[in-house]
Amino acid sequence: MAEVNANYAKLPGSYLFSEIARRTAAFSEANPDVKLIKMGIGDVTRPLAPVVIEAMHAAVDDLARVETFAGYGPEQGYDFLRNAIAEHDFAARGADISPDEIFVSDGAKSDCGNIGDILGPNNKVAVCDPVYPVYVDTNAMAGRAGDYDEATQRWTNIHYMPTTAENGFSPAIPDETADVIYLCSPNNPTGTVLNADQLQAWVDYANAHGSIIMFDAAYERFIVEDGVPHSIFEIPGAKTCAIEFRSFSKTAGFTGARCGYTVVPRELERQDMSLNAMWNRRQTTKFNGASYVIQRGAEAVFTPEGSKQIDETIEYYRANARTIKDGLENLGLAVYGAVNSPYVWCKTPGDMGSWDFFTLLLEQAGVITTPGAGFGPSGEGYIRLTAFGDAGATREAIERIGKLSL
Ligand code: PLP
Repeated sequence: MAEVNANYAKLPGSYLFSEIARRTAAFSEANPDVKLIKMGIGDVTRPLAPVVIEAMHAAVDDLARVETFAGYGPEQGYDFLRNAIAEHDFAARGADISPDEIFVSDGAKSDCGNIGDILGPNNKVAVCDPVYPVYVDTNAMAGRAGDYDEATQRWTNIHYMPTTAENGFSPAIPDETADVIYLCSPNNPTGTVLNADQLQAWVDYANAHGSIIMFDAAYERFIVEDGVPHSIFEIPGAKTCAIEFRSFSKTAGFTGARCGYTVVPRELERQDMSLNAMWNRRQTTKFNGASYVIQRGAEAVFTPEGSKQIDETIEYYRANARTIKDGLENLGLAVYGAVNSPYVWCKTPGDMGSWDFFTLLLEQAGVITTPGAGFGPSGEGYIRLTAFGDAGATREAIERIGKLSL
């Protein structure tokens, strides 16, 4: 009989979004007149920038003519896009990344998961708690997480690093050796960032222990504050210990179009093997390249006009984030994130649980949020609100919440 990957049997159900959907549907059925406002899901709502659309249209026309037709492209991405990324996302910020260290893909979620293909089975993995679930679940699928313990809601072989208001949302460097460390800044779900000193401490730790940092910078373009690195490669020493994931999804509205990239430096070696060469081998074997049309669209993001248009959209979301943050703070709530991020992480009033506050906002304001506990035990006592919605609906949601006595 064929053997399956038994690790899948250990995975807990994806309780969070199905439970949100269940409670929301039950409320809607009982209250069909309430117009719900969604601030739960982390998906963008603004259309692609006009220059991106133009570039994609032109690329479709390329495919329509024999002289300009493009079939399979390079698995690593077209040079036109890798060069633009190296110049604008890295050289412009003082980070020395060459195009052959950049691997274009169909998005950061796939890359965050697929990177496990080039890691051994016995690594000790460290993640923040709360966490973007993909890091944990993909390691569990690969057998690196141990067993899931329902009581603690944690995997036995994963090292969890709580990030809460008490430690300023900065994960503590572990006493034991963590071989693979996932860091996400600006963070999903907390919306908080790690500054240069905090990242330097992680880079020093990783270089001293032979660890690898998996740095997820999917929300990099939301950073406004000085001193907050946009890339781990702005930190000295990072090229010998880090891999970085980037995405056009939240920064340029590509959640539906799909494009991202991963940076694997040539200096990154473990056990005499180059991770850049290994990732290249992995991608050329298992991936046939991101779509030509989409890569042309992504290239347009880096033109002066594209950059301006993208920033306008980001500013639209930032204004929503400010509306949410100011509104909730006016109610006396403690609010985190929101400044360098589209995510607002709000402490529940009193000692209310995440799910209770979620239910209160749903039933009394018709606003759908995400309970922080769904992202890990240390998310208990928080909810996440997203700034990706319509500006008018965001203002209305905050007005509705403002009428509650919390
Ligand atoms: N990384 C983080 C932290 C995210 O929140 C998301 C999406 O929500 C992704 C990666 C995935 O992005 P993509 O759309 O590029 O797959």
